[in-house]
Amino acid sequence: MVASVVVNDAGQPICVQAFFADITERKKAEIALQDSEARFRELFNRMSSGVAVYKAVDNGGDFMFLDFNPAAERIEKISKQDILGKRVSVVFPGVKEFGIFKVFQRVRQTSQPEYFPQNIYKDEKDSGSWRENWVFKLGADEVVAIYNDITERKRAEEKLQAAYAQETRLRQHLEEEAQNRIRFIDVLAHELKGPLTPMLTSSGILREILPPDSGSRLQRLTDNIFNGTNLLNSRLDELLEVARYARGAVNLNKELTDTRQFIEQVVSRYTPAIARRNQELIVELAEDIPVVSLDRSRLEQVLVNLLSNASKYSPEGCRILLTVGRRDGHLLISVKDEGIGICPEDQPILFQPYQRVGQEQHKTQGLGLGLTVVKSIIEAHGGKIWVTSKLGQGSTFSFTIPLK
Ligand code: ADP
Repeated sequence: MVASVVVNDAGQPICVQAFFADITERKKAEIALQDSEARFRELFNRMSSGVAVYKAVDNGGDFMFLDFNPAAERIEKISKQDILGKRVSVVFPGVKEFGIFKVFQRVRQTSQPEYFPQNIYKDEKDSGSWRENWVFKLGADEVVAIYNDITERKRAEEKLQAAYAQETRLRQHLEEEAQNRIRFIDVLAHELKGPLTPMLTSSGILREILPPDSGSRLQRLTDNIFNGTNLLNSRLDELLEVARYARGAVNLNKELTDTRQFIEQVVSRYTPAIARRNQELIVELAEDIPVVSLDRSRLEQVLVNLLSNASKYSPEGCRILLTVGRRDGHLLISVKDEGIGICPEDQPILFQPYQRVGQEQHKTQGLGLGLTVVKSIIEAHGGKIWVTSKLGQGSTFSFTIPLK
C-alpha cells in the first residue's frame, strides 16, 4: 500500500489517499532474483576459472577492479581486498603487452563477447604465465574476464614438443646413416660383382671343355671355383636387392593374375626341391581364390623363399602345408611347417636384415636377408607379413595382399 496526505491550495490536509496493489508477484520475483543472485554468487565463488569484473574508467582508457573471485585470487596470488578499486594497468603492468587490454576496449564498445586465445603474460614480477580468457560485457559499462591458468599445461606441451623435436632430429640422423650404409653396400656389392663375372663365366666354360671323366682332380677344383663363385654371386645379388628395396628403388610390374593358376605353376616348379629332402608339399586352395593384381616374379620369389625356409628348417620327411584363401578383402597365403620352430623373442626380429636365429644358423647357409626382401615385396604390394611359431613344433608364415 502507498498512502499520502492530500492538501488543498492553502496547504491544509483534507484527506488521506491510499493506493492498494497486489504485489505478491513482484515480491516473489524479487525473492527469486535474490535466490538466483545467491546461486550465481556461489558459482562465482566456487568455480575453478578465475573471474575478474572491471568497470571502465576514463571513458574506456582504463579498467578498474570491481570484483575478483577466489579462483582468480589463487591464480594471481593476490587478495581481492588489495586490488578492488584499483586500475588493471596498475595491478597488472604487463596487461597491454599481453594484448587483452584492447580486447576489453573492443568488447566494451561492441558488446560482442570475445575469446582471447592462449597467450603468455609477463611483467617485472611474473616471468611468464599462460592464460586463456573469455571476455564479456556486463551492463553499466562493466566487462568481465573469465580465465584459466594454463601454464602447467603449456609447460608440459613445450616439454613434449622439445622431446618430439629431439626425436625427429635423432630419427633424421639415423635415417641418414641408414641411407649412407645402404649406399655403401650398394657400391661395394657392385664392385665385388665386377671381377666375379669373368670368374663365373671362365669357370663355367672350363667345366664344359674339361673331359667328362668327373672324377678328375682338375674337374673337382673347377667345380669348387664354379660353385663358390656362384654362391658368392647370389649373396651379392641378395645384398643388392636389399639395398634396392631400402632405397625404395623397386618398381613393381603388376599384372592381373589368376591366383590359382599362378600358385599351381610355382608349386609344380618347386615341388622337386622339396621332394629331394623327402618332404611333402600339401597345397590347400580355397574355392573362391580371387584374381589379384601382383608382380608375379616378385611373388614367386616370396613363395620360393618361404617354402625354401620351411624345407631348410624342417627335418627330412616332414610335411609342408601351403594354404591360399581370402580374408577381409585380402588374399591370404600361409606356409606352415613342422620344423624347428622359432622362440618368441626371436620372432619379431626375423624380418630385419642379417638376423639369423636359433641353433640351426650355424648349420644352414644364408645371410639372413631372405625374409627382409620378402617383407619388402609384400609391403610394396600393400600387404602384411607375420609369423606364428612354437619352438620345436613348427612355424607358420602368413601374408596378405589387398584385392584392390
Ligand atoms: P636365411 O638366409 O638365414 O634363411 P631368412 O631371412 O630367410 O634368412 O631367415 C632369417 C632367419 O629366420 C633364419 O636364419 C632362421 O633362423 C629363421 N627362419 C626363417 N624361416 C624359418 C622357419 N620356417 N623355421 C624356423 N626358422 C626360420
